[in-house]
Amino acid sequence: MKFDKIKKIVSEMSMKIASEGYNLGTWGNISRRFDENIFAITPSAIPYKEMSEEHIVIVDLNCNVIEGNKKPSTEILLHSEIYRLKKKANAVIHTHGVFSTSFAIARKPIPAVCEDLIQVVGGYVNIADYHLPATKELAAAAIIALAERSACLLANHGLVSVAGNLAEAFKITQIVEKSAQAIILAQALGGAVELSIADINKMRNFYLEKYGK
Ligand SMILES: [Zn+2]
Repeated sequence: MKFDKIKKIVSEMSMKIASEGYNLGTWGNISRRFDENIFAITPSAIPYKEMSEEHIVIVDLNCNVIEGNKKPSTEILLHSEIYRLKKKANAVIHTHGVFSTSFAIARKPIPAVCEDLIQVVGGYVNIADYHLPATKELAAAAIIALAERSACLLANHGLVSVAGNLAEAFKITQIVEKSAQAIILAQALGGAVELSIADINKMRNFYLEKYGK
């Protein structure tokens, strides 16, 4: 009962992510913090097509299951480490979208060349060192790559978006995917043009301080 609303929010966002084509089958995972030490996360090994709110698992930051009949996502450590170390993070979306994965498998950061990308991420999308999925080493590498930004790539794997709520994390995922696609297309036109650090900082500060307020 206590967790019904948050389970519904996570379940609905999972469908949305899958319908956008960012996650296929059972890959990728989504979570939302409930309070300081508790969060709701998608289950392991249940296809998005079959997923509903009763499958969402409630866990604590030590990865103990508080409520739920299913196993939590195998990437639970990635989510719990982000919540443990980033007090403002309340939502994490991990996706395997085509265009961010293109950069991840090339092991190249996504450059800060689009206004919207700079505003929502805070600069280029850094790439975490390669580690096997579902390991504490991967979680630690993601924390380093995220630093003060709201997204990072996982080498040979995918994308992680972090925000204060799921709507913002979804927006970050969409903008990173779109930017990655545009940058790849720009290669055919001679390549994307880099921006100055001063302009990048101005755009980010505008978003944080003025946009939407
Ligand atoms: Zn993954």
